Amino acid sequence: MKCRVCREPAVIDIRRHNANFCTEHFLRLCRDQVAKAIKQHSMLEPGDRVLVAVSGGKDSLALWDLLLELGYQADGLYLGLGIDDYSEESAHHARRFAAGRDANLVEIDLRSEYGYDIPSGSRAARRAPCSACGLSKRHLFDRAALEGGYDAVATGHNLDDEAAVLFGNVLHWHTEYLARQLPVLPAREGFPRKVKPLVRLGEREMAAYCLVRGIDYQVDECPMAAGNRHLAYKEALNAIEARSPGAKHEFYFGYLARASERFRDGMAEEQAALGSCERCGAPTPGEVCAFCRLLDQAGGSQPVELTPRRARPDDRDPTRAGGS
Ligand code: SF4
Ligand SMILES: [Zn+2]
Ligand SMILES: [Zn+2]
Repeated sequence: MKCRVCREPAVIDIRRHNANFCTEHFLRLCRDQVAKAIKQHSMLEPGDRVLVAVSGGKDSLALWDLLLELGYQADGLYLGLGIDDYSEESAHHARRFAAGRDANLVEIDLRSEYGYDIPSGSRAARRAPCSACGLSKRHLFDRAALEGGYDAVATGHNLDDEAAVLFGNVLHWHTEYLARQLPVLPAREGFPRKVKPLVRLGEREMAAYCLVRGIDYQVDECPMAAGNRHLAYKEALNAIEARSPGAKHEFYFGYLARASERFRDGMAEEQAALGSCERCGAPTPGEVCAFCRLLDQAGGSQPVELTPRRARPDDRDPTRAGGS
């Protein structure tokens, strides 16, 4: 197996590019793909201050590393979700990365600052854990970016994530979500710009990137993800990709180029209908925003016990795992 560029021994094969790469040219490929995504979708301008949503997992740490490498002023924001050992270990990886790069990591802890954590808070609010978690993340990332004067919030959604979300939204014809499923959402009243610079790179490439760059990351899956439909969509797409390399790329980028425009009609009206939350000032269609309502139900909830689930073997050896 030889590198497509220099013919030296390769460390990774990328079937959708029908090519193998050595360490140096693989890293270059990752940087080029991120730079291309940023330019193609007008995500960032040189010198922009970016707040990276850091979970401690491979995607967000690789993204932070890549943005720093590309010269952006990128700070990290870690949200302590209070999911047992999983959260503690994730925070450790985020802090370690920041210390190693001399980068700035902002931390928000749900339990000590808002009186709930995801396992107990979602139960108290009678919401699925991922729903309470997603709502908390969106609200707190938006607020931190606006208060900190950042130009954009960057998240580590990669091609596999975006294709899986698209798959789910198409399967259930969630047209209002399809309208927003874009690699960049411009800043709007009360919302910062949101960008996804990893959309041209797959999950397996991100794991390999961390391995090659010596980035230690949280390899365990969040224990609350068990039974999550998103994982089932990823598995279905992996089966398709294994038989038809490039299918995920075609599905996602084909949607952006040829179909996404058709779902955008409602977005402007939706934005125009938003007022401000009477408690926190965040944009909301009602009087009190969804986050403040979550706080009413979840704030002060007592911690509950969890048993973490281990990662699948493929997550641990990205250079050997098949498909992506
Ligand atoms: S799996 Fe669900 S609960 Fe866990 S971090 Fe992701 S969204 Fe949050
Ligand atoms: Zn090479
Ligand atoms: Zn509010």
